[in-house]
Amino acid sequence: MTQSLFLLPGDGIGTEIMAEVEKLIAHLNASGKTDFVYETGLVGGAAYDAHGVAISDADMDKALAADAVIFGAVGGPKWDDVPYEHRPEAGLLRLRKDLGLFANLRPAICYSALAEASSLKRELVEGLDILIVRELTGGVYFGEPKEITELGNGQKRAVDTQVYESYEIDRIARVAFDLARTRGKKVHSADKKNVMKSGVLWDEVVREAVKDYPDIELHHILADNAAMQLVRNPKQFDVMVTDNLFGDILSDAAAMLTGSLGMLPSASLGAPDPETGKRKAMYEPVHGSAPDIAGQGVANPIAMFASFSMALRYSFEMIELAVALDTAISDVLEDGLRTGDIMQTGCRKVTTAEMADAIIAKL
Ligand code: NAD
Repeated sequence: MTQSLFLLPGDGIGTEIMAEVEKLIAHLNASGKTDFVYETGLVGGAAYDAHGVAISDADMDKALAADAVIFGAVGGPKWDDVPYEHRPEAGLLRLRKDLGLFANLRPAICYSALAEASSLKRELVEGLDILIVRELTGGVYFGEPKEITELGNGQKRAVDTQVYESYEIDRIARVAFDLARTRGKKVHSADKKNVMKSGVLWDEVVREAVKDYPDIELHHILADNAAMQLVRNPKQFDVMVTDNLFGDILSDAAAMLTGSLGMLPSASLGAPDPETGKRKAMYEPVHGSAPDIAGQGVANPIAMFASFSMALRYSFEMIELAVALDTAISDVLEDGLRTGDIMQTGCRKVTTAEMADAIIAKL
């Protein structure tokens, strides 16, 4: 069956790593394993230069129509002074909002060959495979009121509002349970129910939802303890589900257990379509457009390839192919190939294209 992708390379190294994705797609299609068709659009600074907005309505329509969106990175000094509503990140935010992407998936996988690059000891991180599921569209980043007011006595008062409704908690919990079913069947739900009402509701709704998943082992953990346990004994976790704020912090902490920014993939999923059951989805590396190395052909394409692997897994249920791609990445690292950001003594330094070609050859 033909599957449609919409590629949004964006700016800086986004265009360089997306060029390698196109090679990967061509290889997969030629091997007969997939039948992807794709179009390419503009987002971020590139879209601003062409259309005066961070993503055009026409490209937004294409993103809505595709089976999955593959996103590179946006931003750069050239666009630092564009009007706030048209800044490059506005394209990313519009995509998340219009596609209804409420679940952000951030895996933290430690490749054995890179275990020394972690800030923790090898034995703590080798074989690490955590998936953090972060609620992305609610909570304190969006709750109203959100304001700074003058108190008239020379003081100011700032308010952010942490707010969740039960449906928002229920749907993210179910994403975590569904994903845990494809992995270790263990979910830690992190909140601050000891001091926050939103945490009390979070825990109540998660416990109710798990009743539909008798095969899942659910654990409650306070978010501050989760942070501590992530650096003490990270391998105790399989899937962790948490709100927008705690997820932002915990996923960055977990990410650094694995070494470099150039290695980190992510996925964002929406609700299943009531008719087809398919979720809207966008896959993107965690890193930005890296203006300091853009145009040099030295960016690490692994975060982008690992994000594509997540698309194979979560949008197209091509689990075997996703595993093959992940294994190919691991194998080239074992062979000693390194881009500059993950370079180690005794390894061979390669360019973006050389790294991507080596991974494709392993496939
Ligand atoms: P960045 O992630 O672009 O770069 C941080 C550092 O990591 C740089 O030294 C960069 O060279 C390095 N790096 C990042 N990805 C790499 C890769 N694949 N291979 C090798 N090295 C890599 O973050 P930044 O410098 O804070 O931001 C640069 C621009 O990117 C800014 O305009 C920022 O707003 C934007 N940004 C975009 C996104 C996104 O598109 N999702 C995310 C973060 C930052």
